[in-house]
Amino acid sequence: MVKKQFQAESKRLLEMMINSIYSQKEVFLRELISNSSDAIDKIYYKALTDESLDFDMGNYYIKISADKENRLLKIKDTGIGMTKEELENNLGVIAQSGSLAFKKENESKDGHDIIGQFGVGFYAAFMVAEEVKVISRALGNEEAYVWESKGADGYTIETANKEDVGTEIILKIMENTEEENYDEYLEEYRLKQIIKKYSDFIRYPIKMDITKKEPKEEGSEDYTEYTEEETINSMVPIWKKNKSELTGEDYENFYQEKRYGFDKPLKHIHIHVDGTIRYNSILYIPESTPYNYYTAEYEKGLELYSNGVLIMEKCAELLPDYFSFVKGLVDSEDLSLNISREMLQHDRQLKLISKNITKKIKQQLLQLLREDREGYEKFFESFGRQLKYGVYSDFGANKDTLQDLLLFYSSKEKKLVSLDEYVSRMPEDQKYIYYATGESIDRIDKLPQTELVADKGYEILYFTDEVDEFAIKMLMQYKDKEFRSVSSGDLGLDMTEENNKAEEEAASNKDLFTEMKKQLEGKVKDVKVSNRLKSHPVCLSTDGEISVEMEKVLSAMPN
Ligand code: ADP
Ligand code: MG
Repeated sequence: MVKKQFQAESKRLLEMMINSIYSQKEVFLRELISNSSDAIDKIYYKALTDESLDFDMGNYYIKISADKENRLLKIKDTGIGMTKEELENNLGVIAQSGSLAFKKENESKDGHDIIGQFGVGFYAAFMVAEEVKVISRALGNEEAYVWESKGADGYTIETANKEDVGTEIILKIMENTEEENYDEYLEEYRLKQIIKKYSDFIRYPIKMDITKKEPKEEGSEDYTEYTEEETINSMVPIWKKNKSELTGEDYENFYQEKRYGFDKPLKHIHIHVDGTIRYNSILYIPESTPYNYYTAEYEKGLELYSNGVLIMEKCAELLPDYFSFVKGLVDSEDLSLNISREMLQHDRQLKLISKNITKKIKQQLLQLLREDREGYEKFFESFGRQLKYGVYSDFGANKDTLQDLLLFYSSKEKKLVSLDEYVSRMPEDQKYIYYATGESIDRIDKLPQTELVADKGYEILYFTDEVDEFAIKMLMQYKDKEFRSVSSGDLGLDMTEENNKAEEEAASNKDLFTEMKKQLEGKVKDVKVSNRLKSHPVCLSTDGEISVEMEKVLSAMPN
């Protein structure tokens, strides 16, 4: 038997690659299963044009089996198989991708479901195996071959026996080391878990013989063990299904299955986009705030799939911070992945998708606000603060996106109102959007400053959240109406009557005011007759742009 050598550079490359491109060893299984899926796809595509070939979905599968005693893990597929030359070219030449070549040849036939492209995934097997055997029989061939390798030092190819067309990959799993547990790759539950995680939406069944237990007799403590073949993956991704085929319950179940949250989602958004960049997405707006939501621990992000294969569990770039509460996934066939499939080569695509889904989320929230007020208010209780932070951050860059989503308590009916609602019911002579800042609605109600505005019949927004006034300062105006604090100097009210009265009072009580000012020296800047008090005897006011309340917040902030 002649041992063929990798070329020197390739040998080093292989060693480097095996040990450095993947951050997790478990992805070896994802890579091998993806190859098997590609191999079955190839028969499928061939059958599209070759009339002698019949593609019956029922005949195609991938099977994973572990032999703990001998430390063997087997991945078998009923795919197209490899000839001797193909074994040599595809598995002997690093970075040679038979699948990419196939995709190119069959471009016109919509071959975009094929996953392979870099010609390196197969070698991921060497992260967990000390020896890899590939027994393969190509479609239309009688003879089979076995390719064998212990890693960087080379490989052999010999004839072999194989009854059916397809490929079997047999890994001799490494022994545990102090740092690394390899036994787990022979454990049923762990294999199942890895398959579910990365390969749940591979379109062909991934089967395993699952161990079952049954009492020997009814009620007996004695069990018989037997195995039953099960399909582990869900195969058809829910997001590729037609919206009309799916019920609200399907979406809810998926939310639970994916453990996006323990609550029920308030709303789901299902997107199919077939534009410059193609993608499918299912997004959820949760009902309640995750326990760590307003902490630094909370990690935003969506799951990112490429062609049904999981690439990233939390892709942060897909969501702006102000929509960080959104859960869900994006699946695109147009991502340019780097070879580890853990990162993208360009984030241009992500930016495009992110922009697109941000728009959709906004639309859906506006719709919720219009059509399900109660639902929206529930949402706003949970995540409204995040939206207000959004308005305030990035120097107000997002204010146009967010201003219509904001709600504030208002003096009218003590209910939440949107800015649009406020402005649309302003009396004609009202110049500004009035707001009052305070710790609670009750406290604000007692503020002397609110009285004058309320007396004129104008509505006041109640700012009880620290971020409210900051957000509004960023907005400055809404639909050409400026915001004004009820404690600001110029309220834009007709004050002739009040002014005259105040002047009179000031003139006739001159001595009293001089004395009060003297008594309060160093504590206040001035003591004046106010033209704005109604039932209250006295109030504090500022002469700057910010309210007393905001000053409190500012001075409490660490600097
Ligand atoms: P990629 O999948 O990116 O092309 P891999 O290193 O994973 O790279 O695989 C290299 C090539 O080997 C594939 O392109 C394919 O031609 C071939 N191959 C690997 N596994 C199989 C398999 N199970 N059945 C048929 N061909 C396979
Ligand atoms: Mg591959």
